[in-house]
This record gives sequence, C-alpha cells and structure tokens, in this order.
Amino acid sequence: MKLHTQHSLKALNTFGIDQTAENFVAVESKEELKEALNLAKFEQKFILGGGSNLLLTQPIKGLCIHIALKGINVIQEDDKTVIVEAMAGENWHDFVCWTLEQGYGGLENLSLIPGNVGTSPIQNIGAYGVELKDIFESCTAFDRHNLTQRTFTREDAQFGYRSSFFKTKGKGQYVISAVQFRLTKKGHVINTSYGAIKEALGNKESTPQNIAHAVISIRQSKLPNPAELGNSGSFFKNPIISKAQFDQLLTTFPKLPSYPQENGEVKVPAGWLIDQLGFKGKRIGDAGVHKKQALVLVNYGNASGQEILALAQKIQANVKESFNISLEAEVNIL
Ligand SMILES: Cc1cc2nc3c(=O)[nH]c(=O)nc-3n(C[C@H](O)[C@H](O)[C@H](O)COP(=O)(O)OP(=O)(O)OC[C@H]3O[C@@H](n4cnc5c(N)ncnc54)[C@H](O)[C@@H]3O)c2cc1C
Repeated sequence: MKLHTQHSLKALNTFGIDQTAENFVAVESKEELKEALNLAKFEQKFILGGGSNLLLTQPIKGLCIHIALKGINVIQEDDKTVIVEAMAGENWHDFVCWTLEQGYGGLENLSLIPGNVGTSPIQNIGAYGVELKDIFESCTAFDRHNLTQRTFTREDAQFGYRSSFFKTKGKGQYVISAVQFRLTKKGHVINTSYGAIKEALGNKESTPQNIAHAVISIRQSKLPNPAELGNSGSFFKNPIISKAQFDQLLTTFPKLPSYPQENGEVKVPAGWLIDQLGFKGKRIGDAGVHKKQALVLVNYGNASGQEILALAQKIQANVKESFNISLEAEVNIL
C-alpha cells in the first residue's frame, strides 16, 4: 500500500475534472482497506470507486482511499440459481460480461454502466427496467469508525429510486467491500419492458446475452462515452411530484410525459423539463449540456468542477421557476 501526495484525479473521474487528492492510496485487499481506514493522522477520509458518479469542485482533503479490491467467486449454487460474490473494486461492466459468459442471467439490462461493483448498491443503479435491488442478495461493508464488518441484506439496504441506506441514514458510515448477487442459471427473468430493447432485439431470441448486446448498442447510440467526452451520466434524478401538481402542470404543458408511481405520485423525466427550456446542446466555456441528452452535463475539455456546478445550478433555478419543480442532483458533488 503506497501513499501518494498531491495525486492527480483527472484520470480517476469520468468528468475528467483536473483535481487532486492531498493524500491518496489504492487498497487491494480488506486488510489494506482496514489499514487505510485506521490511519489516524488523516481526519477526513474519502472513498473513491470508479469516479463515475462524482463532480469534483475542490481538492480532496485528508486521505482519498481508492477501492481496488478484486475477485469474483461463486459462493453457492443449485440447479437454477447461483450466488456470486464480486469484490468492490471489480469494474461493473466487466463483471456483467463475466456473468453472461458463465451463462448467468440477471445483470444483462445493467450492461455498460460505468463504475465499480462496490458502489452499485449505494444509489441502487438502474437501467432499462431493472434495478440492482432485483438481483441483490447482500453486501459486506466495514464500519468506518470501529472497522467491524457487517453484512447487509436487501431489507437492511432499504433500496429506493437511486437511493439506499448507504445514501441516506447510513451515509458516510460504511465502506462496501464486496457484493453478493442472486443470479439465474436457467429460467431467466427476462425484462424487455423498454420498447427500445424490443426494437434493438428484432428477430433475435430474448436471451440474457442478446439483451445485453441490445442494451449496449442503445446506450452507445444515446450516451456520450466518458473516454471521449467527460460526463457523469444523468446529472439529475427524475423528480417525483404529487398527482395534483402533475394535473396542474398538464394544463400548461399538455405533452409532459409521466410515469405513475405505486403510491399515486408521478415521476416526470428531468431531461424533458430541461429540454423544454432550451438547454440541450448549450455550452458555457467548456461546460455543456449534451446535444442528444439534456440530462447529461459534459466537460468539453478543461471545464472546472465549479463551472459544471454553476451550469447545473442555472438549470435547477430555471426548472424551479418554470415548472415549480426542484431538481435533485444524482451525481455526488464534492
Ligand atoms: C456514461 C455514464 C452512464 C451512467 N449510466 C447510469 C445508469 O444507467 N444507471 C445508474 O444508476 N447510474 C449510471 N451512471 C452513474 C454511475 O455509473 C453509477 O452511479 C456507479 O454506480 C458509480 O460507481 P463509481 O464506482 O464510479 O462511484 P464513485 O463515483 O467512485 O463514487 C460515488 C459515491 O460512492 C462512494 N463510494 C464509492 N465506492 C464506495 C464503497 N465501496 N463503499 C462506500 N462508498 C463508496 C463515493 O465516496 C461517492 O460518494 C452512469 C455514469 C456515466 C458516466
């Protein structure tokens, strides 16, 4: 375990923001993670995964601990199901590909999401009709303060839309070291509820592998590749509003799309709201709104975290003024 000072984080965040960590260490085992968490001389400690849900507006003070624990193991199986454990530092998409190569189903709709396995429960990653909670068995985490290890079941993790215990009550308290997934070996639970998947599948059979290919091609056509254009995926969550407010908005905006929620509230697409205000394709210096997807803020090269944040705040203020809706950032702002 090697400690670096004034370490550049430019290559370690998908926005490509040029910031540094005052002190930086990459941990490759549970022992190293515990050792780093135990370094008393650093009062502040920040956990960094793949840096794909992060906007760095300032240098990271104290110690930045980069999660690099690797390993994938089958820990239990029967004829139909398998429980696979992946260590927190495994790349999410590489892990999805590994499961598909083994013939396991469950993760196909979540193909090509950037980031680490260990971060996936934090915001209950989701895409194309599937959320992490659907295949989550449990996860193992260290309490940052007393370094004891704890297992969280699905119930303990309190998953919600882009949310979990780790983002709410337990925020900043635990470091996830491994995640266990319940996947299918046969009788796969296929989800093609998103029309675009059916279209991309065409005549092909709905196997997990074919769905993964469909999802990958849809994502590649819609979302900017962070390796080419810095971004952090959807910058804002889709807001959930009351039915009364939705009905009122419909009188002014009859084309407002909606996704009714089980509790009677209504989810509306943040991208649509932002698009209505003419932000799509807007650029201020090197900070911009993607030309195809209004929900994605981009760094054209040398934008600072502050510049991206200023654009995000301008969008939030405009959406509030026009629709009386408060947009909440999905990205972690530091
Ligand atoms: C192009 C693009 C597309 C995306 N598409 C989607 C999508 O479809 N659906 C979706 O849900 N998300 C999407 N995202 C967001 C992102 O990929 C996910 O949120 C991902 O899980 C973040 O993982 P990470 O390892 O990069 O997290 P980081 O950015 O490294 O960290 C995020 C937060 O988690 C904390 N953290 C990191 N690791 C741990 C750990 N082991 N224990 C405790 N805390 C930790 C960090 O301190 C930070 O607060 C997209 C991002 C991009 C760039």
